Amino acid sequence: MERIHVSTRSPQCMEDITAQVSDAVRRSGVEEGICHLFVTHTTAGLVINENDDPEVVRDLLEKLEALAPSDAAYHHLEGNSHSHIKSSLVGQSAAAPVAGGRLALGRWQAVFFAEFDGPREREVLLQVVAARATETPAEELSRERQAEP
Ligand code: ZN
Repeated sequence: MERIHVSTRSPQCMEDITAQVSDAVRRSGVEEGICHLFVTHTTAGLVINENDDPEVVRDLLEKLEALAPSDAAYHHLEGNSHSHIKSSLVGQSAAAPVAGGRLALGRWQAVFFAEFDGPREREVLLQVVAARATETPAEELSRERQAEP
């Protein structure tokens, strides 16, 4: 397991962590499998979406703010209930396929750390899980022949 360190820059933002995730996938040496990401925080989350136009992230943050306004009244007295709600809406985990030793994101996709109670020092746990090796037909035949009496 790896830990990706993220320094968020404002109270609510999305930090593009695609480069760090891609580097970790390469370091893992896994050719085929899945990259699982998990945020160990209750006021942050993970989002996989477009990074080409920054207005997409801006719209996401604005709509989340409309759903759970920072200045609304809440029962949780710590003052960050809106952050907990936004974190729950986007989720604490994300997964993406690993193919050919690389993170197989779509052309317009990026992995974002979603901060809802920053700025803070944060971390993301990352695990690259290899797919079980499959036999080629020739390997299967060879194994069966060796098993014959
Ligand atoms: Zn709280």
